[in-house]
Amino acid sequence: MGRAGQQMKGFDMVTEAASVCKVEEGEVLDAPMIRESFGEPVTVKPSCGGQAGRWSCVTCGYDPPNQFYKDTHIGEPGEHRMAWICLEHGIEVP
Ligand SMILES: [Zn+2]
Ligand SMILES: [Zn+2]
Repeated sequence: MGRAGQQMKGFDMVTEAASVCKVEEGEVLDAPMIRESFGEPVTVKPSCGGQAGRWSCVTCGYDPPNQFYKDTHIGEPGEHRMAWICLEHGIEVP
């Protein structure tokens, strides 16, 4: 009997997929970067539908400066939880 596992060599290096999700309304965010930006844990608010604000990945603590960087970032392997930081209200559901 040979080692069947050997013939799969080369196929077991599966690229880690990107996983993207959004923060949820009512969720309390308490990451170090949240405390750094807001000074305290922040409760996610419902979206106001406004356009003034920026994206933030709360998993990585990364704020993409524009849509291009955001799309690039969420294509990277690992988990990304995206939040919308509204200029008026703070963190909202995207
Ligand atoms: Zn808002
Ligand atoms: Zn991220």
